Amino acid sequence: MVARAVAAPFVIGLDVGGTKILSGLVDGDGHIVAQHEIHSPGDSEEDVLAALDAAVEELLDDRVAAIGFGIPSNLERNTGRVLHATNLPLENIDLAARSQERYGLPVGVENDASVAALAEWKRGAGRGSNNLVMFTLGTGVGGGIVIDGKLFRGWAELGHVVVQEGGPPCACGGRGHLEVLASGHAGDRAARDLYGPDADAHLLIDKGHSGDVRAVEALARIGESLGAAIGSLVNIFDPDLTVVGGGFGAAAGELVLGPARGAARNEAIAPADETLRVVPAELGAEAGLVGAGLVGFEALVEA
Ligand SMILES: [Zn+2]
Repeated sequence: MVARAVAAPFVIGLDVGGTKILSGLVDGDGHIVAQHEIHSPGDSEEDVLAALDAAVEELLDDRVAAIGFGIPSNLERNTGRVLHATNLPLENIDLAARSQERYGLPVGVENDASVAALAEWKRGAGRGSNNLVMFTLGTGVGGGIVIDGKLFRGWAELGHVVVQEGGPPCACGGRGHLEVLASGHAGDRAARDLYGPDADAHLLIDKGHSGDVRAVEALARIGESLGAAIGSLVNIFDPDLTVVGGGFGAAAGELVLGPARGAARNEAIAPADETLRVVPAELGAEAGLVGAGLVGFEALVEA
């Protein structure tokens, strides 16, 4: 496999979502050299697997040494089996074994938010750091953790840490989880409360950026929930920095990050109460594809 890696410097990364599958040819530095997109991967497991195969085969040639997947799912440790994907009909399937058999290449599979964290560590806001925690604030909230330059291979479901005991119910069955309090949906709810039934998080953020006090305050409350979670994780992992990405996180920017930083400092143990860093992600929507490629390279090294 080492000889092949030298001769074949690319992997195929797949960023798998409910509405589209992005595939890319990724080099060892995490740069995308070719890209392909498939919309609406399908309503059945069979359809999705066929779409994944098409996404791979579109880019597969002799230069490809491994394949990496970023999947919106928690995974069984050690096997990488997909347990239950969000917004995709994939359940209890060993995607790595299936793809290894099909293509005869090493295959890595990881949670989509974890691969984004790996991407930000390698090529984005966390370049040069050893330890990083990342939150992705989108429709839901995800996260990933890099420790000593390696992706933490636990669930890292940072959206489901409790920030308000007994708080509002989360889709997972728990209460007061970060995902309920700091996702785009939380922004939608706050917008409807303030501006009526047609308002959404986009409007809330627009109003916040133009200085509307009520919007600024609502986004600050969201940031404070995020900050409570960041402070707790800083006290466990002492990361060099915390990166915040995702569509909602990127759009809200400092309206959420500023209050998050303050709240995190209130919770963090010294000296992190003064030194902790909370910064925006840099790779945007590219993080999923870059990170999936990097997971492919990890699989290649381990093979
Ligand atoms: Zn939850």
